[in-house]
Amino acid sequence: MECAGCNQCCVTFPIDSIGKQENEMCRFCDVGVGCQIHHTDIPAACQSFECWYFKKGNIEEALRPDKCRVIFEYIKNCDLYLGTTPKDEPYAWQQPIIRAQTERFLMLGKPVVFTCFQPMQRFVFLTGGRDASQVWDCLTKEAKAVRE
Ligand code: SF4
Ligand code: SF4
Repeated sequence: MECAGCNQCCVTFPIDSIGKQENEMCRFCDVGVGCQIHHTDIPAACQSFECWYFKKGNIEEALRPDKCRVIFEYIKNCDLYLGTTPKDEPYAWQQPIIRAQTERFLMLGKPVVFTCFQPMQRFVFLTGGRDASQVWDCLTKEAKAVRE
């Protein structure tokens, strides 16, 4: 699967090591081309980021993050899917197409968590006997580790 000019991850996430704030375009992003520092000094957070849409492939284009406004990641250490929405559409997860994808993740036995950095909010959809506070604690620890 190709990013094809999406750029959503290079806008939405904060990257502490390069002083990038959430919901602003990274200064290293060459829009429509890619990351200018990909081969030299790309932050660890960007290197380890695994976009579900990009990684999975064969997904309908309407689920591309810049189109559906949700960036899904599989967080392996917490065994769940995380969907991050942008500041200008914090409730993008309520769209039918995202609801349908959420159901598919839940059918796989994976909890789904939606977060937004601005305004700060979270919504947790549980499955498989998981507890909301356990899910959130795991995710909080993981997020601290991967956004630096
Ligand atoms: S959010 Fe995913 S599809 Fe969009 S630019 Fe980032 S890696 Fe590519
Ligand atoms: S450093 Fe590169 S990959 Fe990371 S947010 Fe900036 S442009 Fe995107």
